Amino acid sequence: MKPPLNNNQILKKQVLRKQVSRNQLLRQLPSVDAVLQHATALVAQWGSHQVTAAIKSEIAKARRTLSDDHYSPTASLNNITDLNAEQANKQVLINTIITTVGSTLANSNEPSLRQMINLTGTVLHTNLGRAILPQRAIEAVARVASTPNNLEYDVETGGRGDRDCHVEPLICELTGAEAATVVNNNAAAVLLVLNTLANNAEVPVSRGELVEIGGSFRIPEVMQRANCRLIEVGATNRTHVKDYQQAINSATALLMKVHTSNFCIEGFTKAVSEVELATLAHQHQLPLVVDLGSGNLIDFTQFGLPPEPTAATSINNGADIITFSGDKLLGGPQCGIIAGRKALLNQIRQNPLKRALRLDKMTLAALEEVLKMYRNPESLCDELPTLRYLTREATDIKAQATKLLPLVAAVLPPQYTVESTPCNSQIGSGALPVASIDSHGLVIKCLQDVDLRRLSDVFRQLPRPVIGRMNDGKFWLDLRCLDCEAVFIEQLDDLAPLLT
Ligand SMILES: *Cc1c(COP(=O)(O)O)cnc(C)c1O
Repeated sequence: MKPPLNNNQILKKQVLRKQVSRNQLLRQLPSVDAVLQHATALVAQWGSHQVTAAIKSEIAKARRTLSDDHYSPTASLNNITDLNAEQANKQVLINTIITTVGSTLANSNEPSLRQMINLTGTVLHTNLGRAILPQRAIEAVARVASTPNNLEYDVETGGRGDRDCHVEPLICELTGAEAATVVNNNAAAVLLVLNTLANNAEVPVSRGELVEIGGSFRIPEVMQRANCRLIEVGATNRTHVKDYQQAINSATALLMKVHTSNFCIEGFTKAVSEVELATLAHQHQLPLVVDLGSGNLIDFTQFGLPPEPTAATSINNGADIITFSGDKLLGGPQCGIIAGRKALLNQIRQNPLKRALRLDKMTLAALEEVLKMYRNPESLCDELPTLRYLTREATDIKAQATKLLPLVAAVLPPQYTVESTPCNSQIGSGALPVASIDSHGLVIKCLQDVDLRRLSDVFRQLPRPVIGRMNDGKFWLDLRCLDCEAVFIEQLDDLAPLLT
């Protein structure tokens, strides 16, 4: 009988065996051309350029792995280096490479911008793309994107047209302004207005309005880039007309008011109204510029929402220029709207920056449709997703929560408990910062924090990621914006396997 092998001998034997299979595998690695010959289906789908590159990289990766001293085959068989040398005849290797390349190419061709489900409770969520476009706007985008169009062409005269003409009359109609133009976003609108009207000049702004929006838009920094000098007036909590008055001199270009859209100063406060500021500005032949931020076009209190100043009110109060976003409360595409006096708008249009910040045809098409919807406020709540979400009744959301509760409970492992609970939604994107709307949702609890974080990770791993909110040691799914209920339900089956 042979004496049993000691540990060292066993190890040596394993290494030797591995070495053999490794060398054998290395020798049997097919050429790129050999794999390509069997990859006609992949070539038809992805083109020979991508497929050749992916095969090359797969073979190179296998060669590297096989040459690595720590190499050991695993049992997954997703990869050629998981094969034993004995299994590895050339055809098996080729098939394995083709399978791997197929899934690599499918993954790398997945869209980077993906559809998600926003259950955060923030209706206008900047990180989740802000306003959802209405169907009519989406159709308009497809229409202008798919054929030549009259973006800058006057069909009647056959001459050159102006791209602003597709939305300017609508903006004027809805705001009461004499003229209007549109740019990439409201940050661009503020930059363009200041650079045109206050280049190398002074602009007094209340210290209570020097806002930062979403990290990168700060009024003082935008002013600097617009080449105008910010003159801070008043105090953080109180600013009076006389503060502006004292700041005005021959270098003053305009007066500016900024809607403090993402915070609220309460208590002993005083701000100068638009009417007072307009009166003062006009006494000194200066224009008043108002950055409304989320400016909306109609009075939202008629839908039971908290009051927010409208664009028309500011124009009526005497503002000479107003700017606001297209994808906040307006519910349209990302853009910045500039409206006001004709003479000032003419100057703004002539600034070379306007060309750099102009809108493309798809955004203009979407904006035109959304603006037209405001002509008929009665149907706005049904047609405009932003308003539909904002005005959804808590009782309706509760009914949805009641329906979904048992379905979610059924797929959660026993350490989780889920309840249907009232919660508060926010408008988001700086509109009405302190206002919250009664809503309803599912709240998931669990003893271990790590399990709860796991759950929120897993919801994000679903084919259409579901984004909830961690708050108060619980995971909240506010159902206010859930309009793809069927997708949500269908995906629940994917949840349980991800949690085990
Ligand atoms: C949101 C906001 C901006 C920036 O608007 P964007 O459309 O995001 O560029 C500027 N000013 C105010 C007051 C805002 O609320």
